[in-house]
Amino acid sequence: MMIDAIIVGAGPAGMMAAIYLKRANKDIVILDKNSPGGRLKSTYQVDNYLGFGRVSADELVQKMVNHLKDLEIEETDGFVKKITRTPKGFTVQTELETYETKAVILATGTAPKHLGVKNEKALLARGVSYCAVCDGIFFENRDVVVIGGGDSALEESLYLAEIASSVVIIHDLPELTASQGIIKKVKQHPKIQIRLNTKVLEFIGSTELEAVKLQNKSTYLLEVFPTSGAFIYVGNQADTSFLTDSMNFDQSGYIEVNQEMSTNIPGIFACGDVTKKDYRFIVTAISDGAIAALSAVKYIDSL
Ligand SMILES: Cc1cc2nc3c(=O)[nH]c(=O)nc-3n(C[C@H](O)[C@H](O)[C@H](O)COP(=O)(O)OP(=O)(O)OC[C@H]3O[C@@H](n4cnc5c(N)ncnc54)[C@H](O)[C@@H]3O)c2cc1C
Repeated sequence: MMIDAIIVGAGPAGMMAAIYLKRANKDIVILDKNSPGGRLKSTYQVDNYLGFGRVSADELVQKMVNHLKDLEIEETDGFVKKITRTPKGFTVQTELETYETKAVILATGTAPKHLGVKNEKALLARGVSYCAVCDGIFFENRDVVVIGGGDSALEESLYLAEIASSVVIIHDLPELTASQGIIKKVKQHPKIQIRLNTKVLEFIGSTELEAVKLQNKSTYLLEVFPTSGAFIYVGNQADTSFLTDSMNFDQSGYIEVNQEMSTNIPGIFACGDVTKKDYRFIVTAISDGAIAALSAVKYIDSL
């Protein structure tokens, strides 16, 4: 069966695209390798979202999912592995299914960047984590570190400080890079300490994390710093490796799109954090999602 459009990714961008396509009477499938919500599921609180001010991320995701349900849009489980051009459109392959579609909307977002140090992989889920909301609860009344100095690192430090007995922020630059408001909150928090100009060289532990090996970037002094948990927030990256080489990406692997959210391949649109852009927020993702959907409607109708 030929579907009008397949949306890959059910984060804010993909969900918004699904709503606009459905309202234009297109038949769609929205695929995600996880449950809907995207990166919003890895935070606890959302700020600056119009109409909400401050809202729990769980509540916002639930409202988005309900919005889809009201329009009878069901997200389908599916880890997309390959997209191929055919004479009639595209095939989208997941681990279990192959779909035929006229148009594709890529809304695959980003994943957390890894530090790339010794034992990071081996101790993942054994003390090393990229998601405070998912794993923070395991560190009740224990000491944790947060690695990174941007908004996400500091926001999640505040969240962890409600659970853990202490939080030490480790950042490899001389200054934190987060916005001033959140820096002020973190500095005033009695349970949070900040170590600047300090690099993490290694995670130490046999079956569980026991310590992090640190190096001061000015003095080069090494230190083994005991901790039960390490939460890594050193940026994000797009995983576009499953896409065709003929698609235009920037040097970091983000998809290049024009104002209509069209990629260089006619019939494939992209939206949200996976695209090349300066600002990655919910509001920019959903705006892209709406534009990508309307452009896809125009494309499908022109066929
Ligand atoms: C810790 C943290 C805190 C944040 N706080 C805020 C905030 O307070 N306010 C704000 O506006 N923004 C915040 N953001 C940013 C916001 O979450 C993102 O900008 C937004 O989620 C981007 O939406 P998206 O749909 O483009 O991508 P994502 O949310 O990343 O969703 C992409 C989806 O695609 C799926 N996917 C990926 N590859 C495949 C594949 N091959 N097959 C199938 N599915 C796939 C993923 O599973 C995911 O569900 C925060 C982000 C983080 C990490």
